[in-house]
Amino acid sequence: MHYLSTRGQAPQKRFTEILLGGLMEDGGLAMPVQYPTFSRADLDAMRGMDYRQLAFAILSRFADDIPADDLKALIDRTYTADVYRNTVSGSDARDITPLYTLESDLHLLELSNGPTLAFKDMAMQLLGNLFEYALAKTGAELNIFGATSGDTGSSAEYAMRGKRGIRVFMLSPHQKMSRFQTAQMFSLQDPNIFNIAVRGVFDDCQDMVKAVSNDLDFKARYRIGTVNSINWARVSAQVVYYFKGYFAATKSNDEQVSFTVPSGNFGNVCAGHIARMMGLPIRHLVVATNENDVLDEFFRTGVYRPRATAETLHTTSPSMDISKASNFERFIYDLTGRDADRVRALWGEVDRGRPFDLSDSGLFGKVASDYGFQSGSSNHAHRLATMRLAQARWGRAIDTHTADGLKVALERREAGVPMVVLETALPAKFSETVVEALGREPVRPAGMENLESLPQRFEVMDADVAAMKAFIAQHAD
Ligand SMILES: *Cc1c(COP(=O)(O)O)cnc(C)c1O
Repeated sequence: MHYLSTRGQAPQKRFTEILLGGLMEDGGLAMPVQYPTFSRADLDAMRGMDYRQLAFAILSRFADDIPADDLKALIDRTYTADVYRNTVSGSDARDITPLYTLESDLHLLELSNGPTLAFKDMAMQLLGNLFEYALAKTGAELNIFGATSGDTGSSAEYAMRGKRGIRVFMLSPHQKMSRFQTAQMFSLQDPNIFNIAVRGVFDDCQDMVKAVSNDLDFKARYRIGTVNSINWARVSAQVVYYFKGYFAATKSNDEQVSFTVPSGNFGNVCAGHIARMMGLPIRHLVVATNENDVLDEFFRTGVYRPRATAETLHTTSPSMDISKASNFERFIYDLTGRDADRVRALWGEVDRGRPFDLSDSGLFGKVASDYGFQSGSSNHAHRLATMRLAQARWGRAIDTHTADGLKVALERREAGVPMVVLETALPAKFSETVVEALGREPVRPAGMENLESLPQRFEVMDADVAAMKAFIAQHAD
């Protein structure tokens, strides 16, 4: 499999060549030259597979420059009941992504039973093993440098901890994350993990990452890399659980299933789109947003209008608080019939902070008719009401992001079509709002009861780029 750029001006690459990277050389995103597809006979053979077998069947089509035995070993090491053990619903951890049935034709797909209790662990844990494998081949090292306000940073740290050849330098705004999130990250004692609490807000952290990344000499000298949501390996690893969820929700491959996906950067639902393009019988892909509804606006109107950072609202589903959706370019590339010139022109606008409008282009109609997309949004009051409903009607506590999904799913479900809502975090991770909705603390997975009282290891620094570079230089050799 070769990968090209959505902007059409970068040389093609193989999977392992884009594994450690972010953007392609022309600023576009990596896409396979064509999607591998599964026939009806393939699907019939896949129906009985466990998670690891499914992951191999799918990922071996994307990562075909990794020897099959090696890929299989990496997958087998990643997707175990021990890694994804944090189920609090009574589901069987051996399913890796258990399907939890609320009622007939309404399900949650549990994606949040990994180490950091959010769905990002589904792909990130594999990424950690892939990175270590790829670096060992060349003897190279990698310093992952990023900023987080919560889920991505902790997921990256738990994926990379103790990995040979890898260090993680993760910036977070000092005293601005929840106590649980802070404890989750700062309690890691692994010598290759560096938590840096920056006196400032998330944007100050982000600006420092940008400043360091723009210093190309420094970046090359210290082999600085990232693990952001546009990473192709992450997207492709997420394709697997759509297959797993489909097979779990149906009895035969004649049936169709709809998925509702709590969305921010469009990474998760992009994987659903790819699964559908590969032949999985998906009826609708329902994009659920919170008050930061830039995606819902596009799917309703055909206008994509990224917001300024100042316009991004801080909500109680914070991992969906985005101003633009970084993976959305992948879908628009497909929607335009893979017209890289068109994508380059559209993102020329986006990169200047301007909207684009496909409403009367003929393409917009295809978004629903050919690609199955629908959307909806919710707000804090909806989240509370949906969390209470899930508890009262089905005896199931859910987190705020999953509540955004369930709210929209209930509006969009159709009789006779299973609706699967992706559970993107466990309630324990967002306990403040759970207490507000349900009047009690959410259940914590075993072993995490005393997380906040564990010793913490972190540095506090000013938002000072020179000092940051000095810190990396000091610890990266
Ligand atoms: C990251 C995240 C999302 C959004 O996923 P995208 O791939 O960015 O669309 C939703 N819910 C939770 C809990 C997350 O951590």
